[in-house]
Amino acid sequence: MVTESRVLRGLAEELRERLVEFSRRLIRTPSLPGHEGEVARLVAEEMRELGYDEVRTDEVGNVIGLIRGAGSGRSLMLNTHLDHVDSGDESRWPFPPFAAELHEGCIWGRGAVDIKGPTAAQVHGAAILKAAGVRPEGDVVVVVAVQEEVGGLGSVEVGRSTKTDRAVVGEPSGNELRRGHRGRVELLVGVRGRSCHASVPEKGINPHYSMSRFVTGLRDVRTEVDPFLGRESFAPTLIQSDQSSANVVPGELTLHVDWRTIPSRAPEEVRAELARLLEASLLDGASGQVDLRTFDLVTYTGARRRAPTAFPSFVLPEGDPLVSESRAALEEALGREVPVGRWEFATDGGHLTAAGVPTIGFGPGDPALAHTTQERIGVTELVEGAVGYAALALRLTSGA
Ligand SMILES: [Zn+2]
Repeated sequence: MVTESRVLRGLAEELRERLVEFSRRLIRTPSLPGHEGEVARLVAEEMRELGYDEVRTDEVGNVIGLIRGAGSGRSLMLNTHLDHVDSGDESRWPFPPFAAELHEGCIWGRGAVDIKGPTAAQVHGAAILKAAGVRPEGDVVVVVAVQEEVGGLGSVEVGRSTKTDRAVVGEPSGNELRRGHRGRVELLVGVRGRSCHASVPEKGINPHYSMSRFVTGLRDVRTEVDPFLGRESFAPTLIQSDQSSANVVPGELTLHVDWRTIPSRAPEEVRAELARLLEASLLDGASGQVDLRTFDLVTYTGARRRAPTAFPSFVLPEGDPLVSESRAALEEALGREVPVGRWEFATDGGHLTAAGVPTIGFGPGDPALAHTTQERIGVTELVEGAVGYAALALRLTSGA
């Protein structure tokens, strides 16, 4: 295995230039959720050129590449996504967000760590096995999914259609292992009163009074703690009124609540708890309800899906063989210690776990740079990530 690690590292070094160029091409191709067609085409083309055994795009636009195994081992999914968040005001970036500028050993731009760098490392990492002439014992399926940034529609679809025995999600983790994260659920709290002229407020029912009691009460809602993930949290974020004039008492208010979830709390249980709080907050005959927010999404292939804005939490137990095998494989291949921790943000790992696929996280790039104007990835780290994925693809598919 020591010789094998050396071979993997050697091949990754040979691939370095191509890996860097591929990452830069991906960054230069903007792919907001719903507009990933061009970047999907680039990914599929790269997989074909690297000698993948099968490459296809499914109905919603996920790119799925297969490196066929010998059939005696487990199947493994490597999972990242095609989309990214908005780049915002370009003048705030040290380098233009879609130029993929190389500066002092780093590639700069939107998606460098979240997630085009890791995507390139997974696509190339699996292909290193081909280059080494090594056939994994089980199939390696590389999935690059649509619309992760708006709820994970692509991976929900993949969780239904492409069952593998295990999965590695490639969100940035500084090439450390991640075995879980809190989930995210968006709740909509609506209060309905009765609109009237603001000069005679007594003629209407002003929903602000009920809503303010609800928001104050939200601070005192009981929260639970998960020993690994930490405490769940509620944050009121956006608020909308049905009026645009300041001299009208609104008839309706809608508040968005960002709830970071832990596995012990089911969405319906929490929704019902907040509904009871709202009921107790209503004044003057106002009415209200609490709902999980849903989105109607259209993918770049024209597929339509209705999905809740919910990422489930997940925790892979500390003693799970997927943790120990991943750690052993990476420490051997990378020649250093590989810590195991948690992500602070939600990923498609929750959807895959919910679909019954045990999932672990590993990806190059500093997670603190995701969604910022400082987004960049070190080339050395990128290459190390590709070696890591090759080692994981070998080890995690061995033995059924
Ligand atoms: Zn991401």
